[in-house]
Amino acid sequence: MNKHEYKDLWVYIQHDGKAVHPVSLELCCEIRKIGDASREALAAVIVGDLPESEKDRVLDCGVDKIIHVSGTGYDFFNTDAYTNLFTVLCRKYKPSAVFVGGTIFGRDFAPRFACRLPTGCTSDATQLIWNPETADIEFVEPAVGGKMMAVITVPDARPQVGTIRPGTFKYAPTGRRACITAEEIIDFPVGEIRTKILDFKADEFDESLNIADADVIVCVGNGVKGADQLPKYRELAELLGGKLGCTRPVFDRGILPFKLVIGQSGVVIKPKLYLAFGVSGAVNHVTGITDSDRIVAVNKDPDAAIFRYCDYGIAGDMDEVCGMMIGKLKAGKKLSPQKDVI
Ligand SMILES: Cc1cc2nc3c(=O)[nH]c(=O)nc-3n(C[C@H](O)[C@H](O)[C@H](O)COP(=O)(O)OP(=O)(O)OC[C@H]3O[C@@H](n4cnc5c(N)ncnc54)[C@H](O)[C@@H]3O)c2cc1C
Repeated sequence: MNKHEYKDLWVYIQHDGKAVHPVSLELCCEIRKIGDASREALAAVIVGDLPESEKDRVLDCGVDKIIHVSGTGYDFFNTDAYTNLFTVLCRKYKPSAVFVGGTIFGRDFAPRFACRLPTGCTSDATQLIWNPETADIEFVEPAVGGKMMAVITVPDARPQVGTIRPGTFKYAPTGRRACITAEEIIDFPVGEIRTKILDFKADEFDESLNIADADVIVCVGNGVKGADQLPKYRELAELLGGKLGCTRPVFDRGILPFKLVIGQSGVVIKPKLYLAFGVSGAVNHVTGITDSDRIVAVNKDPDAAIFRYCDYGIAGDMDEVCGMMIGKLKAGKKLSPQKDVI
């Protein structure tokens, strides 16, 4: 395999026929930067019809090429047809990399077509770096329980496939460029799709579980004694006009739902204020909070790693500090980390 025969960076544009999934736009913006460095074109792969206004949003991310695919088998997300589609397309066009949003669907079909090609697929990278010496993309992500950052490359195969979680990269469109469109028809026999939709029930929408865009997050870590302690953290979040989040062990203990988990395998947040109570500061969690404007951490262990990442650190008991903050806020007083709670 001569990897120099492979060119162009692809982003799969996941959509439901009405709107593009935000992760696809975030990916276009980030991969645009890699394309500028490696002098490769950025191509958006769109399957099925997309409203013009949504296509415009894709173009605004600086896409050089659209590969528009139509055919049978794509009426609903299914692994069989999409695995085949990307296998066929990659064999024909030879892209150097393919990026897919780390949604439930993307995480399902991306490793499958990577395996068929065959090439490597990296999931959940939190940073992508193009190495000019090797011409490889370095997928950087926490490993060994967050004790180290692993750099994963696919040096001997192409394309380099990656699934990236929603919210990992910023949606920051750089503007349009001249863009060409290639039309492809790839039919997949509908009878060969092994999954069927029998029924569809949308999740009941609970706004309190939608934390990705919250301005204030009160995060409860594994230091919490139990579910009976939660009301005070909820109250603090409400007083600050924010929402509750948690670390993964709090979900593992059955105290809060997975949608509130922040970090590498959870949600990436970008609040103005993030308050961590009883959070140790493991890399897998910190990965999801680094875009916070202000970080306040409360931990009884003065050597806890979370203190390396925060703007204000409070060494103390989380329940006591939370209670004091509530008292101050209710009394209409401004909180001063130096005077009030250390
Ligand atoms: C592949 C992978 C992905 C992962 N993804 C995620 C993820 O997305 N999000 C995530 O959160 N984790 C994730 N993890 C788990 C992660 O590695 C850590 O185990 C986790 O973040 C630790 O959570 P914690 O800090 O709440 O708990 P702990 O590490 O148990 O820390 C609890 C902290 O509470 C403090 N404490 C205890 N009692 C009190 C008290 N009374 N007052 C004040 N402080 C107190 C302790 O000093 C300690 O620092 C992942 C792990 C792996 C392997």
